[in-house]
Amino acid sequence: MAAESNTIAGIDLGTTYSSIAWVDSSGHVEVLPNSEGFLATNSVVFFDGRTAIVGREAAKAALLEPDKAAECFKRDMGRPYYNRKVCGKEMRPEVLSAIVLKKLKQDAERRLGTVRDVVLTVPAYFDDCRRKATQDAGKIAGLNVVDIINEPTAAAICYGYGRAAGADGEKIILVYDLGGGTFDATLMRVSGGNQFYTIATDGDVMLGGKDWDQRIIDYVVADFQRNVHADLRQDPPTYQELALRVEECKRTLSKRNSVTIPVAYAGRRLGVPLDREKFKQISSDLLARTQSTIELLVRNAGLTWNRVDALLLSGGSTRMAMVREMIAKVTGKEPDTSLDEDLAVAKGAAIHAASLRLGEGAAPDSGFQEATATKLAAIKHQNVNSHSLGVAALNRDRRLANVTLIPKNSPLPATRSQAFGVSAPNASVVEIKVLEGEAPLADGCIEIGTCRISDLPHGLPKGAPIDVSFSYSEDGRVHLRAIVRALKRGAFVEIVRPEGLTEHDLERQAQVVSGLEII
Ligand code: AMP
Repeated sequence: MAAESNTIAGIDLGTTYSSIAWVDSSGHVEVLPNSEGFLATNSVVFFDGRTAIVGREAAKAALLEPDKAAECFKRDMGRPYYNRKVCGKEMRPEVLSAIVLKKLKQDAERRLGTVRDVVLTVPAYFDDCRRKATQDAGKIAGLNVVDIINEPTAAAICYGYGRAAGADGEKIILVYDLGGGTFDATLMRVSGGNQFYTIATDGDVMLGGKDWDQRIIDYVVADFQRNVHADLRQDPPTYQELALRVEECKRTLSKRNSVTIPVAYAGRRLGVPLDREKFKQISSDLLARTQSTIELLVRNAGLTWNRVDALLLSGGSTRMAMVREMIAKVTGKEPDTSLDEDLAVAKGAAIHAASLRLGEGAAPDSGFQEATATKLAAIKHQNVNSHSLGVAALNRDRRLANVTLIPKNSPLPATRSQAFGVSAPNASVVEIKVLEGEAPLADGCIEIGTCRISDLPHGLPKGAPIDVSFSYSEDGRVHLRAIVRALKRGAFVEIVRPEGLTEHDLERQAQVVSGLEII
């Protein structure tokens, strides 16, 4: 097929696997294989001098030289550094993610021509710092991140797109999204298969298939130690290889009732048997965390399970038998398994991306056939914020409290204004700590950064009010505006993020990444 220019794509940037998709002119959603022929690329980077290897080959190379490899860095998004050094150096999770994105872009371009505009997906439960870090990763990769969309919303859009418009009337659906590293539960009202309104969302950015893998690894290590009196953890390559084996065995347990995990170390070989029952037992607390999240979500939304029409499963980890059993038991309904667990999020992102392109007024020359353009243009969705937005203020006990301005699960966009008095006469700067979270005290919340209002006019008396408006845009990002009330004029306001990247840092990191050969 001839390369199409200016194609917009959707990318699922996952903890363990990532994928890229697009919508062709006839409305078909296609996930693009990487240069090795796989639809999902392992989110693993291996450094070999100036070359960064991404994907399955990187995962294999990491077995022998784990110090040169990075994986699961999505879990560190929003933090300054990946949790360990790579090739002896501290690396930012945004940079590692950018390398994965660049690999996806490059491989997709073999088929599509230049890809610059993309929609990236994020867990619904990502806070502002993690959302910004994801957008920054896109910029470092040389992409124009047109939007970020929540993974469960993308899965639901994919679900709706596959159905005839209007066929379903109005439905309430629960998206249970358990990927490699994150868990999201989202309740949505879906109308006519193309209008998606999020009612509420909750989740855990530190819970995913990797944690189930770890339970099996720990089980095997303990078994080996009991029987052979040798510690597998002492040998990094053996341990890495075990991690790969375990993931395969976990997948097998989704099909079969039992599996034997082969281990060889210190001159001894052992087959460690594991059946579904034991697997469930050693990971029951992980499953219970997802169960209490969905129960609370439905209860807090004032609903009961009989009001929920469909339970959508998304994310590879929902293939585990224990997940399906638990959902059926808790809800009294069989989950809907019509979605492709691994690829629905990338496909949904691509559909959203194509729909945005039409919204940009590009309809006449969008390249989409008329029926496709009509279908895409009709897609609408409304998001909610997954964390309450607040500011830090001293309470009566002189402790720094969290004062909520925009409560969690407010329909977006949402704005709330609050007046702050300048602390001293002639102050030129006002600083306010911006928080996300539900805890009553500031130190129990995530500090996004400091809202810094500067260039205040000279001569303001102490207590002069500055009206600050705090907003969440539709993509869940936080924005600020400040007005000096007495003068009715705006003041310069920014969020100073101690750990985030500045525009200058982004340019520098983009140069570093563009100097790498990525394969
Ligand atoms: P995703 O982020 O949606 O690509 O999900 C990746 C996670 O799904 C990884 O932790 C995989 O180990 C897990 N996964 C994929 N297929 C299966 C399966 N058949 N059974 C259990 N877990 C799976």
